[in-house]
Amino acid sequence: MVGRPPKDYHIWYKLPLSPLFNHSEPRRRASSTAIAAVSLLASIAISGSAIAASPAATPNLLPAESRGVTQAPPPQPINWDKVTQEATDLLSKYIQMNTTNPPGDELDAARMLKEKFLTDGIPATTWEPQHGRGIIAARLRGIGKHNKSIILLSHMDVVPANPKEWEVPPFSGTVKDGKIWGRGAIDDKGPGVIELMAMLAIKRAGILLNRDVLFVATGDEEEGGKNGAGWFVDHESNVFSDAGFLLNEGGGIRALSDNKRKAYIVSVTEKTPLWLKLTASGPAGHASDPPAETAVTRLVHALNKLSEYKTPIHVIGPVQDYYHSMAELDHGPRQQLDLAAALKDAEYQNKFLSDPSQNARVRDTITPTVLSASQKTNVISETAYAEIDCRLLPGSDPKTVMSDIKKVIGDDTVKIDVILNFPPISSPSRSPLMTAIDSLARMHDQASVVPSLIIGFTDSHYFRQKKIVSYGFIPIEVLPAEGKGVHGINEHIGVKELADGIQRMVQLLKIFGGQ
Ligand SMILES: [Zn+2]
Repeated sequence: MVGRPPKDYHIWYKLPLSPLFNHSEPRRRASSTAIAAVSLLASIAISGSAIAASPAATPNLLPAESRGVTQAPPPQPINWDKVTQEATDLLSKYIQMNTTNPPGDELDAARMLKEKFLTDGIPATTWEPQHGRGIIAARLRGIGKHNKSIILLSHMDVVPANPKEWEVPPFSGTVKDGKIWGRGAIDDKGPGVIELMAMLAIKRAGILLNRDVLFVATGDEEEGGKNGAGWFVDHESNVFSDAGFLLNEGGGIRALSDNKRKAYIVSVTEKTPLWLKLTASGPAGHASDPPAETAVTRLVHALNKLSEYKTPIHVIGPVQDYYHSMAELDHGPRQQLDLAAALKDAEYQNKFLSDPSQNARVRDTITPTVLSASQKTNVISETAYAEIDCRLLPGSDPKTVMSDIKKVIGDDTVKIDVILNFPPISSPSRSPLMTAIDSLARMHDQASVVPSLIIGFTDSHYFRQKKIVSYGFIPIEVLPAEGKGVHGINEHIGVKELADGIQRMVQLLKIFGGQ
C-alpha cells in the first residue's frame, strides 16, 4: 500500500480469450496463435480430465456448459505439506528478484509467475507497459455461465530497503526460524503467492468452481500505480470485462486482545489523495537588502495558516461500524460503540484525536511534505513552493477542499495546482463476496467480519472505478511483529501464516465459487 501503515494496520492484509497475447508481439499475429494455444489450455484448465478434447480444427472457445460438462470426478485431496514447501520456495525466489520501486523492474518477476501458471496449464500472459515494467494476468476457468469472475490482485514492486538496517539481507529471501525474510514478504509478494498457490491447488485437485478466478499482479503500486494497475485498467480492461469482484491487500485477520478470538478486517473503502503544489512568488534579489515580502515569506505565511486550520470531523459509515464492532468484540472503550456521538464531547474528542491514525480516520488531513526555494543562503529566489499531501475521506469533495484551502490561505498570489487526485469510491459492505468472507470467518476461525476504511490507498480504486466490488482482504493473519516490517525493517512472514493463508484462500474460493 502507499503511505505508512497505521499503527494497528495488519496486512491482513474471462480473460475473454483474445487478450492473451504478449504485448511485445504484434497484436494481429499474436492473437490468432495465442487463441489456439489458450483455448487448449483453457479446456485443460476447466478440469483435469472431465472434458473430452474438442476437434483440433475448431478452437474450443465455447463456455463449458455447451461442451456438455455437467459432472466432474470427485476432487483429489490437496497435499498441504507439498503446497507449503512450494509456496515457501516460490516466495523466497520472488523476494530475491529486486523490484524496488523506483525503478520497479517487475518484468522478470511477472515472467516467473507466468511460467508458474503455464506449467500447471493455467493460461497466463504478461505486459510491459514501460521498459522493464511488468504486469501479469492468469485465468483459472470455472464452469459458471453467468457468474461474474473474481480478481485476486497483488503488486510486485516493493519499497526500498537499506541493508545496513536489516538483520538479514533484504533481498535474500532467507528461510530461517520458520519464517521467510525479505522486502515484500508481507507487502505484497506473500499475498501474491497465497493467491497464486490457491489457484494452483484448486486446479491440481480438480475442484470445479462456478466462476472464473483471475490472478493479476501489477507493478508501480508503491508510486501510485500509474505504470501498473492504472495502465492495465486504461489499456487492457477487456481482460477483466467479466469481473465483478476483487480481493487485494489492505485487510486480513487480526487476533483480538484475548489472543484467542479473531476478527476478519475487510476494507471497503480508502481515503483519497489530493496532492497539491503551492507556489508563491515575489521579487528576486540579494538577501542583503531584502524587501518586506518575498516568495519564501509568503509561502511560510500560507503554510502557517494551513497548519492552524482544523478540518471538520466527520465519522463516515464504515468508520462508525468499525469502532462499534471492535468495541463490542474486543471490549474497547464504550464511547466507541457510537463514535460520532462520543466525539461531540470535547474531552473525549481531544483524547481520541491525539492518536494520529485515529485522527486520520475521522477527518481530511493536510500535510506539507516537500519545500523548495533558493539554493543559496544569500539569494532571494523569485519562487518558492511546497507540496502538500492532503488525504480526503470518502465523501469529501476535492473542489470544496481546495476552495477551503484557498480561503484559509487568503493570499491570491499563492498559486495552487493539483499534482494527484482521483475520485473517492467505496464498495458496498454487503455483497455475495462479503457473505462468502463471513462464511469463511465463521467456519474457519469462529470469527466476525469487521468492515473498515484504510487511511492509505492501494490499487483497489482503479478497479472500483470500473464498478468492481473490491475489498482489501487477504485471508492471512499477520502477527504484530510481522506487521511492523511493512515499509519497515526485517520484513518477514511465518511459513505457518503463509500456509494458513493459502488454505483459507482455497476455502474462500470454494465457498464463493459454489454459490
Ligand atoms: Zn502494498
